[in-house]
Order: sequence, then structure tokens, then C-alpha cells
Amino acid sequence: MSLLAPDENNIIKAADLIKSGGLVAFPTETVYGLGANAFDPIAVSKIFETKQRPFFDPLIVHISSFAMLSRVTENFGVLEQKLADAFWPGPLTLILPKKREIPDIVTAGLSTVAVRMPSNEIAIKLISRAETPVAAPSANPFGRISPTKAEHVLKQLGNNIEIILDGGNCERGIESTILKIENGIPYVLRHGAVTAEEIEREAGIKVIKKIEEAASNPETPGQLLSHYSPQTPLVFINDIDLNHIDKKNAGFLAFRKHSVMPEFKKIEILSESGDLHEAAANLFSCLHKLDDEGLDIIYTEKVPEQGLGSAIMDRLKRASKKGK
Ligand code: AMP
Ligand code: MG
Repeated sequence: MSLLAPDENNIIKAADLIKSGGLVAFPTETVYGLGANAFDPIAVSKIFETKQRPFFDPLIVHISSFAMLSRVTENFGVLEQKLADAFWPGPLTLILPKKREIPDIVTAGLSTVAVRMPSNEIAIKLISRAETPVAAPSANPFGRISPTKAEHVLKQLGNNIEIILDGGNCERGIESTILKIENGIPYVLRHGAVTAEEIEREAGIKVIKKIEEAASNPETPGQLLSHYSPQTPLVFINDIDLNHIDKKNAGFLAFRKHSVMPEFKKIEILSESGDLHEAAANLFSCLHKLDDEGLDIIYTEKVPEQGLGSAIMDRLKRASKKGK
């Protein structure tokens, strides 16, 4: 394993590794991805092996240009085009009818494929130098906290990855929004960095939220009840109970700065001013820091479930469901 600066030479080295069937961890604006050539089923199988990800959970295919889009899907509808024009490159994943050439292992046997064009420059260069769409889930063990720094990848999967491109902090820090359009109606399958409100503004029609929790439902694979989990138990807390709990070996994930902060062993604040963009960008990093402290329990505040707050609360709810 080596952590490499994302200069031209190293990006070419990483792209060559992808071309030859290897795995590369790389930054995107959402979280770090673990990428393989999307057309190489053996390479893609290594992603599942490395992450210990179940095969029923399909991957997102990353492209670097609209020209590359034609290699993964035959049908790109008018609304899809409108949304891609508005949000690509960026954190919106579209579910599209897949081309036969995309191996089943990528899509868990579904006839559709999840596709997005990331905006991170290193990701775009890597994919375009690799000259192939890149299948990439987050670069963490399945079900655990997503990585938003190269060090998070190193800590969790370092021994099993040959190249990690170090692009510093992920700008958005939370996964892409997943959208499926059926009969002209957009359905959000996963809350993420693009809000439903933003999509509605561009699409000019109402978005339907279809977030289902499934253990292995092929319709919404991967939306597992327990996900994004620290190893330390995570529990929601309200202001009243905050005064009455044992804080000795406990951590606290605060949404914003309180006028008097409670005295926990370790406190992380998502955003001092209560800004949801900043909170989303800091979420996984704060969880990693709390999880590294050897605490008995982490208490977390709720954030307002509007705009990006829906994506943050989605992650916190799943993180709190560990073992339940
Ligand atoms: P990630 O784990 O962040 O790579 O996100 C992948 C998620 O995208 C999966 O867990 C699914 O929820 C979703 N996904 C991928 N492909 C499809 C598809 N063809 N249809 C519906 N959802 C999909
Ligand atoms: Mg993931």
C-alpha cells in the first residue's frame, strides 16, 4: 500500500493499475471511493472482497465525460439529461437502463445501472486516464463509517489497497443523492449531497422520496437499516436528557455550539454556527474521531430534517441502528 500525492505521474500510475485489473482508492467530492474498471468483473469482485460487501449491493459507476456515458447506458431520457446538465459533474447519481456490457456483478443482476460524474478533479483525471468507467463504492469496510480523508482509508483498509490517492478532505463529505426516474417521475432512493428541493427546482416537478429500508430487497439494495456505523454504540439524545446521563466515558456529537457545552469526555461539533453544509462535510470525520477514543457510548443530537439535514439524519439513524 502507498499513499500517493495526486500529481500527474501518480494519477497515471493509478490509472494503469485500474487498466490492469487492480483497485485504487481515490478522492471524490462526496467520500473516498474504491475503484475498479467497471467492465472487468474480476477486478470488481476484488472491491466486494476488500470491503466485505454483500453481492446484492450494487455499485455506482463513475464517468468522466458525457462521451463515456454512452458506454454504460443506451437510454438517456429528457429529464435525465436536464438533471445531468444541472448537477454533473457533481453528487447526483442517476439510475439508468444498463448496457449489456456492464457485468452483473456491478449491478447485482439488476437491469439498471447507477451512474454519476464526480466533480473532484483528481477523480475526473483518474477516470479519464484509465479510459474506462470506474465502479466505486466508498473505500471503507462494509457498514462502517465512510472515509472523507485519505487517512480514514489507510486506517480501515490500508493493508489491502495498493494505491490511495491523497486528495485531502472531501469537499461535500456525504454520499451522492440517488435518483431514479420512472414514467417521468423522479424518486429519491437515497438522500445525499444534492437536496430534493434542488432537484425539484431544476426538474420543475415534485420529487417523491422512496427511501426504503431493506435487508436484501433487490429494489432498494444497500439501503440497509444499519450502515455508516461507528464501532462505539451511537444513541440520539435530547436537551432534557443531556443533563441526566453519565458523561464519564461518553462522547457527544453536537450539531452546533451550545452556550454552555456539556462536559463529555470527547465532544465533536458538526458546525459551530449550525450550518448544514458544514455539518455534512464534517459528519464522517467527527464520527471517526469519536470512534477512535475508546468510548463506551456516543450521544448525538438531531439535526433539522430539511435540505441537507435529511441526508445527515439518514446517516445518523442508520449509524445508531448497529446490532439492532
Ligand atoms: P454506495 O454504497 O455509496 O456505493 O452506493 C451504492 C448504492 O446505490 C447501493 O447501495 C444502492 O442503494 C444504490 N444503487 C446502485 N445501483 C442501483 C440500481 N441499479 N438500482 C437502485 N439502486 C442502486
Ligand atoms: Mg458506502
